[in-house]
Order: sequence, then structure tokens, then C-alpha cells
Amino acid sequence: MGDNIFLKNSKKPELSDYMNFNVQGRGNLGDDIPLAVYRLMEFSLREQLMEQLGREEQIQIFRKAGYRAGVYFAENMLDTSLSLNEFIAGLQRRMEELKIGVLRVEKLDKETGKIVLTVSEDADCSGLPLLGETVCNYDEGFISGILSAYMGKEYSAVEIDCWATGDRVCRFSAGPKE
Ligand SMILES: [Zn+2]
Repeated sequence: MGDNIFLKNSKKPELSDYMNFNVQGRGNLGDDIPLAVYRLMEFSLREQLMEQLGREEQIQIFRKAGYRAGVYFAENMLDTSLSLNEFIAGLQRRMEELKIGVLRVEKLDKETGKIVLTVSEDADCSGLPLLGETVCNYDEGFISGILSAYMGKEYSAVEIDCWATGDRVCRFSAGPKE
């Protein structure tokens, strides 16, 4: 028997393992954390990835990570057995409760499956200065992950307006991948 019997026998921890935490572990501080801390994490990571791998790679990584989060969120924190309207109502509620943002459905074409969504008071970008580019690539992935998990087919989502491009909401155009 080697020294590393524990490592050999256990699989690599994954997202669901890290999400399976005991809130009592922060008995005094609780499970809320200020927006500034979230953004410090997000934008330092963004800057590091961009510097190390370039802008395109950074965007892809944020989208893919957001997608993982969206699938996890839909499967573990939402009821995917509901009808589309009820599912979206539940998603709106959950996003507001968890202070991710205020979701609205602007357009929904049941024939094509295309959806235009807005998120106001978005955790990632609301209140940012005008930066001349959309910054919510993680949210693009998050939304596409949620929709893919619910719809049972691959969805993509692209941010078309953002606080950082001068709008007061983030607007996402989503639809099934061709
Ligand atoms: Zn945005």
C-alpha cells in the first residue's frame, strides 16, 4: 500500500463537492458577503486570465465557467420539472433572493425558442463606469447553462447591452445552438 491511499481512492473533488458546505462553518459571519468582495474576485481573476492567456481565452473561460455554474444552479437550486412560465418565475425569484440580479423576460418566441432577457441590478456590472465593452461573459455562460439544463438542448447566450456599455440593464439574447 502506498502512502497516498486516500488520494488514490478518492475521485477529484468537483463543483458539487465544494458547494456541499456547512453554513455553520461561518456561524458568526453567516453566508452573505459584500458585493465588493465578489467583484474583487471576479475582476482580479479576469485580469489575470487576460494577461496570461489573452482576451479571447479569458472570455471563453468565463463563459464556460458560467455555464457550469448555470447547469449546477438549474439542477440543484431550481425546479426543472415546471412549465416554462413557472420555471422562469422561479428563476426570477431565486435570482432576486440570492441577489444575483432582477431578471425580466423581454421577448420569448416559443416557436424558435429564442429569448431576450434583461438583468437589472446585476451583481457583475451594475454601477460600473462606462468601459466601452460588455463585461458579463460569466453571466452569458450562466444563462446558457440554466437554459440548456432546463430545455434539454444546448443554448447559447450573448450579452448585447451592459451597464459597462452605457445601458442601465444587461440584455442577453439567447437561443438554441444551431
Ligand atoms: Zn452587464
